[in-house]
Amino acid sequence: ELERFSDPDLSRHSLEAVLEAAEKFKAANGRSPVFMEVCGSHTMALAKTGIKARLKDHVRLIAGPGCPVCVTDQKSIDAMIALSKGPDRILCTFGDMMRVPGSKFTLMKAKTEGEDIRVVYSPLDSVKMAEENPEKEVIFLGIGFETTIPILALAIREAEKKNLQNFSIWMTTKLVEPVLRTLLDAGEVKLDGFLLPGHVAIVSGKRSFDFLSKEYNMPGVISGFEPVQLLSGMYKLLQLLLEKKVDILNDYTYLVKDEGNLVAQKMLDDYLEPYDEVWRGMSTIPGSGLVLKEKYASFDAKKKFNVSVGEPRKTKCRCGEIIKGTITPEECMLFAKGCTPTHPIGPCMVSTEGTCAAHYQYMRED
Ligand code: SF4
Repeated sequence: ELERFSDPDLSRHSLEAVLEAAEKFKAANGRSPVFMEVCGSHTMALAKTGIKARLKDHVRLIAGPGCPVCVTDQKSIDAMIALSKGPDRILCTFGDMMRVPGSKFTLMKAKTEGEDIRVVYSPLDSVKMAEENPEKEVIFLGIGFETTIPILALAIREAEKKNLQNFSIWMTTKLVEPVLRTLLDAGEVKLDGFLLPGHVAIVSGKRSFDFLSKEYNMPGVISGFEPVQLLSGMYKLLQLLLEKKVDILNDYTYLVKDEGNLVAQKMLDDYLEPYDEVWRGMSTIPGSGLVLKEKYASFDAKKKFNVSVGEPRKTKCRCGEIIKGTITPEECMLFAKGCTPTHPIGPCMVSTEGTCAAHYQYMRED
């Protein structure tokens, strides 16, 4: 079934349909349409498949705040480095976080200096690690959007079941709706519509995006990740614009339901509550993250350990603006010069879903 969505002939036809619809939009409006994708996997897929490069003179695609590594505040890295110190600690994180620079250095550097920092594929691996190392405190760096947060809640449920006293999570999770509201309220980027994140919508449901059309008069299409799915999402978005309709469409119906995944949502409700989360480049957005409820405070690393870190060091990295979509990677003076995937200065170049990394690998002109 998935193969159909990357079929070259179907992709070509879909691309032609998008180009034709984009031309109609341009004829009617005197400019190309501007869409934002809000998912790091979309950003990478659009670059990797060549769709973004092929469409660049017809549809302006802006990457939004959808890469979980990129939106993680520098202070969280600093806090994790501080937390890793001590012989009784094991710090666990997803691989991409290892190379994200904090104020002074990275988790990778801290590891080379002897701290016990381990890459895991799932927070559940770190629960197992806590069980196997009862003499150590195991701390997981909990980043991610709606797609990942239920697994963090599941890890807490496992730790609770096993009555582990030595496991905790440093929660720095992010929610899509508050950040989209913040972007739209700020009005710094003029958009015609959103290519909405299929993975997030699996959890939160199609309805969770209805606020865009109802409150912001902004259309959007929930899309999958294969070439035909991406192009179909864009085509449907263009059709909405051409027909002057403002709606949220679900173009990922075989995985996304109107109401989302109720089991995952219940996990979130049971264990977590809203929190004013700090986003890189956007400071604090009210209610934009989830933290553990007071009942589970013993699993909350922020409450369990007394860590204080200073204000983040200012750098020339412009990830904050990249995340908001107000500049392109090429507008950062460090892009492809001081900052490359092998020597990244900011998280947008580190992450496999980062806008700068996608641009460097697939869109660079020199
Ligand atoms: Fe930051 Fe590097 Fe991207 Fe510039 S190119 S914004 S320094 S990650």
